[in-house]
Amino acid sequence: IKSKLPNIGTTIFTTMSKMASDYQAINLGQGFPDFNADQELLNLVTDAMIAGHNQYPYMSGVAELRHVISEKVDTLYGHKYDRDTEITITSGATEAIMAAVLSTVNSGDEVIVIEPCYDCYVPAIKLAGGKPVFVQMIPPTQHKENFSVDWNQVKDSVNSKTRMLIINSPHNPTGAVFTDQDLDALEAIVSDTNIIVLSDEVYEHIVFDGNKHLSVASRPRLAERSFVISSFGKTTHTTGWKIGYCCAPVVLTTELRKVHQFIVFTVPSPFQHALAAYTKNSQTYLTLPAFYQLKRDRLALALRDTKFIPLNSPGTYFLLADYSNISDLNESEFSIWLAQKHGVVVIPVSAFYANPNDLLANHKLVRFCFAKKESTLDEAIERLKKV
Ligand code: GLN
Repeated sequence: IKSKLPNIGTTIFTTMSKMASDYQAINLGQGFPDFNADQELLNLVTDAMIAGHNQYPYMSGVAELRHVISEKVDTLYGHKYDRDTEITITSGATEAIMAAVLSTVNSGDEVIVIEPCYDCYVPAIKLAGGKPVFVQMIPPTQHKENFSVDWNQVKDSVNSKTRMLIINSPHNPTGAVFTDQDLDALEAIVSDTNIIVLSDEVYEHIVFDGNKHLSVASRPRLAERSFVISSFGKTTHTTGWKIGYCCAPVVLTTELRKVHQFIVFTVPSPFQHALAAYTKNSQTYLTLPAFYQLKRDRLALALRDTKFIPLNSPGTYFLLADYSNISDLNESEFSIWLAQKHGVVVIPVSAFYANPNDLLANHKLVRFCFAKKESTLDEAIERLKKV
């Protein structure tokens, strides 16, 4: 068979989670919490099922949920999306990203992707017949504690074929969070062009040290050209429910829904009803920064007693650490060795690059997920101290 994605194998998250189970290792790799969601939210799912919400909801999603999202985005970011024509509930952020790209990127179009990047962007671009154009983030230096976007390079990569620019803040895997200057630079680059922005904001509520997430929805000149994508998986500790959403102006939403209706048509009803009722009555998401900051600090502090050097993580539930004091292996080899020899699973950062074997993709960094119980983190730390 002539593969449409010849260079794509099994995702690194699946590979590393399998390794965790094969070696009975502690899984700080794939990003998901090892604790349960709020009992109140779980009860609301059963309530929704018993109330009879078990048939196809609207193609675009349960109206109450779209309403709640519209209100929330308006309150937080000052942009009112119309719940009927501008908000679509999707099967996780993953499906929203696929539908946004497939519906707007044409064969031969260029899409600027900032590396390292989450793994679902490039396959979506390739399936659409588009061409990913990579801009590498600037690695941490003595003066800057984390990766940052090289906006000059982004600007230089724009040409008449550029159809889309994909951004992600808070950023997986580096934890970097956009500042006002980042959004200024982005706005200057795309204004007066036809470039569509796909803004992956799934970690919008996981930002630390008193900083705020800056949504592209908060900038009218960006909102008018953007797919803004988020996911309840990260916000309500329910990654397995796969409920995400996309807010976008009517012209973009109309196109996205043409694809969404034929990928899945619609997504599970009880979860949508439960999330609508829960999000309306609770602002639990406001507690996420403090909740996850404690975990980040617990891991970062403890890593200082090991040979790993933790990097600053201003957002997401991921933390990068440098292992150059431990090994000369490349990131992928090191991650396998760590799982086999020391029973801790991490993700090599090189897996977030199109060419993981490229030297530029190997900074001797691995990603730890700290969305874990304290006992899990502590056990992992004990093992890491022996490395
Ligand atoms: N987003 C999760 C991560 O970065 C993985 C989700 C998946 O396995 N597709 O770890």
